[in-house]
Formats: sequence, C-alpha cells, structure tokens
Amino acid sequence: MTISTFLNIDLLTVGITIAAIGILGFLILLSNKKSITNRSFFLFSILTILYGVINYISYKVPTADLTLLTTRLVIFSALLHAYSLFQLIYVFPLEKVTFSKKYKFVILPVVILSALLTLTPFVFVGLSGNLAAGDVPVVQKGPGLIIFVLVILFLVIRSVYTLLIKFKNSKNVERDQLGYILSGILFTFTLILVFNFIFPLAFNIVRFVPLAPVFFLPFIIFTSFAIYKHKLFNIKVAATALLAFLVTVFSFINIIFSSGTSGIVINVTAFIIILIGSIRLVRDMLRLEEANSRLRDLDRQKSEFVSFASHQLRSPLTAMKGYASLIIEGDYGPITADMKEAVSRIYESSNTLATVVDDYLNISRIELGSMKYNFKDIDARELVENIIAEQKPNIQKAGLKIDFNVFHNDSYKISADPDKFKQVITNIIDNSVKYTPKGSITVAVERKDDKILFSVKDTGIGISKATIAVLFDKFTRANNANEVNIRGTGLGLYIAKQIVIAHNGRVWVESEGEGKGSQFYVEVPRKV
Ligand code: ADP
Repeated sequence: MTISTFLNIDLLTVGITIAAIGILGFLILLSNKKSITNRSFFLFSILTILYGVINYISYKVPTADLTLLTTRLVIFSALLHAYSLFQLIYVFPLEKVTFSKKYKFVILPVVILSALLTLTPFVFVGLSGNLAAGDVPVVQKGPGLIIFVLVILFLVIRSVYTLLIKFKNSKNVERDQLGYILSGILFTFTLILVFNFIFPLAFNIVRFVPLAPVFFLPFIIFTSFAIYKHKLFNIKVAATALLAFLVTVFSFINIIFSSGTSGIVINVTAFIIILIGSIRLVRDMLRLEEANSRLRDLDRQKSEFVSFASHQLRSPLTAMKGYASLIIEGDYGPITADMKEAVSRIYESSNTLATVVDDYLNISRIELGSMKYNFKDIDARELVENIIAEQKPNIQKAGLKIDFNVFHNDSYKISADPDKFKQVITNIIDNSVKYTPKGSITVAVERKDDKILFSVKDTGIGISKATIAVLFDKFTRANNANEVNIRGTGLGLYIAKQIVIAHNGRVWVESEGEGKGSQFYVEVPRKV
C-alpha cells in the first residue's frame, strides 16, 4: 500500500465517521429539541467533529507557520470537547435541568477561561528551531499548559465518576442505557489513550493520531444501540425527516444536472411532488407520534381507573359474601329452604364477582407494571397436592375423577411467589373441571432436566387449532366454552401467562381439537 492510498483510506474513514457522528447528533437533536440531554448530545457530536477535523488537519498539513496555530486549536477544541462530554453526562437522561451554582459560577467560567488561554502564548509560547534552515519546528510549552492538563483531567475524571454513580443508582431500562453508554465511553477513551497519547508520547508513533474521530465510533455505536433498543430518544420521526430531506436534496440535484427543457420540466415537477410529499410525510409522522403518546396516556389512565374501581368494589363484596354465609349457616336464626337457596345464590354470585374483580385488579397491575412478586423456595408437589385437596369438593360435585402422578422420592423445589403461582395452577385445574362435562382429569408434576413440568390433562370439550393460537390473549373464550360454562371472562389464562413469564417459565396448551380433551403445561426452572 502506498502512502497516498493510506492517506485516502484515512481521509475516507475520518470522513465517514464524521458524517455518521453528524447525522446521529442531528437526528437526536431533531427528535426532541427541548430536551437538554438531546441538546447536549448534539453539542457533544458537533465538538467531536470539530476536534476530529482540527486534529486531522494539524497532522496532515504540517507547514511550519501553521503548526503553532493548529497545535493551539487542537487543545482548544479538546478542552471544549471534554467539557461537552462532561455536560452530557451531567444532564443525562433528564429533559430539564437546573444547573448548580458550582456548575454555573465555577466550572463553566474556568472552562471558558482556560479554553481561551490555550489560544495565547501562555500555553504554547511559540516555535523554536531555525525554520529557514529547514528544521522541523518544535512548539515550545508554556507554564499555562499545566492549567489545561488539570482542567481536562478534572472534566474527564469527573464525567466518568458521575456516569459510574448514575449507573450505580439507576434501575431497569435506565441502567441498561447507561451501561451501553458507559461501555462506549470506556472503549473510546481506551483507544484515544493508546493511540493518541501512549503511542505518540512513549513510542513516537504518530501515524494513528489523525484517526481520532474514528476512535469515537465505539461511543457513537453504543449510544445508537441504546437509542435503538430502548427508544432513548424518539428517533423514528427524526429518521423519517432525514430520509425525506435526503430524497428531496437528491431530486434537487437532479434538476441541476437535467438537460433539455423537457428534462428540466420533468425534474422540477418531480422535485415539487417529492417536496410536498416529504413535508406531509414528516407532518403525519409527528401527528401519529403525538396521537400514540396520547393513547398511551389514556391507556395508563384506564388501567389506573380499573385498579381504583376494583379496589372500591372489593370491600362491599367481601361484606356481602360474609353476611350471606352467616345467614346460610343460621347465625341469624333459622331460615326456610327457599331462603337458604336464595341466599346461597347471593353468596355464589358475589363469589364469582369477587373473582372477576380480582382478575381486573391483576390485569391493571400487570399493565401498570406494578405487580409485585415475593419469591420463595416452594415444593411443587406439595403445592399441587394442596390445590387438589381444596378442589376435591368441586371435582366430586362435577362427577369427575382426578389422578395425580408424581414420584414421591424426588425433590421438586422451585422459586415462586406462593400465592400467585398457586393461582396459575388452580386456574388451570379449575378450567379443566369447568370444561370437562364427563370423564377424568390427570395432573402430573415431573422433573425435566433443569425444569419442573406441570401438566393437567382432561377429557373435556377440547380446543380448536384456531383458538389455541389466541387462547392466552386477553378476553379469549372459545365458541364451545359458553355451551358448558356461561360464566367466564377469558382473563384467567392471560393472567396465568403473565405470572408464569415473571417466573421465567412458559405455559402452553395442546389439544387434538374440539371434543378431544386438552392438555395444559406449565414449565418453570427447577431450584437445585
Ligand atoms: P374463562 O374460563 O374465565 O373463560 P380463561 O382465561 O381461564 O377464562 O380461559 C379462556 C378460555 O380457554 C375459556 O373460555 C375456554 O374457551 C378455554 N379453555 C380453558 N381451559 C380449557 C379446557 N381445559 N378445556 C377446554 N377449553 C378450555
């Protein structure tokens, strides 16, 4: 490879990197212009480009009289660049920030003053060496250099420290995002440290110095990934805007290169159509995004309302059930058989209603993300034995036979929220009772490698292939369900699935078709 191809590849890489950083910075700014985080990211990307360009020029155009100026500019932009990183991390991920007094009256003035100082002879005094004799010019360091070093060290160390503290105190999505950004920054700084400091200073290898902007790629890529994965910034609208912008620009360039009147007319028409289309596209995207965010708000309000209403319904229902059962048991004196029958209906209906209310409460919790799990080590065999014992009266009343298959010597330990997990298995067994007019139910608990598999098989009404596909969705009830059990909400299995997922498990159903029975399976990790 000749020097000139090396130079070209060099320039190309730097050019592409700079373009990528520019586009990303621009997209992020566009996606939420009001957010201080997005603005700081934009500032950071612009200063990365500035630093990169100046750095590149200073090493590629080392004519003697320019050396002093470019050297000064390099550290000037390096300082501003470090400051923009500091600000980005200081505000991340907030939309609005009130800067502290220390920030406004100490850090900012110190950064501005020391940046200005870097342009004066106080930091780099001048050139030494006899230029006329063709000596390589040497830049003479001044006493101010130490100030520059201290300020830049403070900014970088403080940034990394703040980022680490924020990472430590963050949770869930924010922690993930910060994790990516942190990894990106660590990568980037390692590259810069090795190629821009250790190589030139310790080994005199300056060949990689102009590539500085390329070393910012890890940071840019990791940040983009955080954006892509967690919608850190609202990038979709901005990307559409950029695409529309590029297409419009290309169609404009087309006009410039068109030949002949008809060519010009066609291209101008195309340009106008594309321009109007692009504007409408971006406007529609923005409206859609707004509507979406309103819908999300409404959805949350709905869940909050359902949660509130369900809470309010619960206590009167408990009172109704309690008094009904006292009347049935004769605590208020003897009652006639007819009255007993009527009050029993009140009792059963309030019981059903209480289950439905609980279902709604659980759904709103799942949707608001406020379902709390209290994991404990429990024995799966004991759990199922207890549930079967509780369900026995129901099963006998329905005239069904129930079998439980399990090996008695094995351990079936799982980590589960006892109440919620019990609700899952109870729901499945209860369904089998409800949807099996005659025949039997076979429950089994098995060890499968590092998993525990629960199965509930019945000889009931079965489920069609089409229904199986949507059985665990909200409000799904099969057509054949109403024939045997008219009271049902289609919420039980949806809730069961969410609970099983929270246990790192899976739940599924198999059936040969309607009238051919069903088999429900729940699989969760085994605790060893
Ligand atoms: P619900 O029973 O209140 O309708 P679920 O979410 O528990 O709600 O069940 C959803 C639907 O799945 C039922 O309406 C029924 O169509 C079907 N289903 C559930 N269990 C069985 C089963 N063992 N056999 C046949 N169909 C079943």
